[in-house]
Amino acid sequence: MIQIKNMMKTYKLGGETVHALNNVSLEIKKGEFLAIIGPSGSGKSTLMNMLGCLDRPDQGSYFLDGKDIEEMDDNQLALIRNQKIGFIFQNFNLLTKLSALENVELPLIYSGVSAGERRLRALDSLMKVGLKDRAGHMPSQLSGGQQQRVAIARALVGQPSILLADEPTGALDSKTSREILELMQELNELGHTIILITHDLAIAKQAKRMVSIQDGRLQENGGDFLENL
Ligand code: ADP
Ligand code: ADP
Repeated sequence: MIQIKNMMKTYKLGGETVHALNNVSLEIKKGEFLAIIGPSGSGKSTLMNMLGCLDRPDQGSYFLDGKDIEEMDDNQLALIRNQKIGFIFQNFNLLTKLSALENVELPLIYSGVSAGERRLRALDSLMKVGLKDRAGHMPSQLSGGQQQRVAIARALVGQPSILLADEPTGALDSKTSREILELMQELNELGHTIILITHDLAIAKQAKRMVSIQDGRLQENGGDFLENL
C-alpha cells in the first residue's frame, strides 16, 4: 500500500543543514496499525507531510497504492490525497460554525457528492464513531473526545484507504485518550489502515507495529529511542 525508499528531506536554515528525513525507507501494508514514535524535532511532521502527499521528498521514492508520487503534478497529488488519505489532527480542526454532521459532510462537498448522498454517508460515518445522536450539535457543545470522534468521522467519510493521525490524543485527558485509541483499534479491526504519529510511548504501544524516528532516521521497533528512555 505504501512503499517509501531512501527518502531524504533537507532544510537549510541560515548556514545550517538539517536532514529532517535521512534515508528513510518504510513499507506499510493494507490493514496495518502502525505507530511512528519520536521526540520533538525528530522528523515526524516532515514524514507525515510526505505520507499525506502534502510535500515531496528531495530524493527517494514514494509509491502509494502502486502509484509513483514523483510522476504526479500538484493537482493529481491533491486528488490522490483527497481520495486515499483521511487526516486526524491533535486539535481536531473542526469548523466551529458548522454542526457535527456538516463538518463530516465537508470533504464530500469538495468531491462533488450530491446533498442527499452526503447526508447519508456522513450519518453512517458518525454512527461508526458512536455519535449519530449528536449529529446536530455544534463543536462547542461537544467534549474534546466527542470533537475528536467527529474529526475521525470526517476522516472516514471519503472512504480513504489510509487514516493518518498526528498526535490524535495530544489534547485529551488520559481516559478520553484511551477511548479514542480503542476506537482506532476497532476501525483497524474493520480493515482500515492506520498510521499514528506520536511522541508518547504509552500511545504508540497501542498500535500493532512501531517504528521510531530520531534525527530523521527511521528504525523498526523502538530502536535507539526505547533504549535511550
Ligand atoms: P517533529 O515533527 O518530530 O517535531 P519536524 O519534522 O517538524 O519534527 O522537524 C524535523 C527537523 O527539521 C527539525 O530540526 C526542524 O527544525 C526541521 N524543520 C522542519 N520543517 C522545517 C522547515 N520548514 N524549515 C526549516 N527547518 C525545518
Ligand atoms: P510538531 O508539533 O509536530 O512537533 P513542529 O512544531 O515541529 O510540529 O512543526 C510544525 C510545522 O512547522 C512543521 O510541519 C514544519 O514544516 C514547520 N517547522 C518546524 N520546524 C521549523 C523550522 N525550524 N523552521 C521553519 N518551519 C519549521
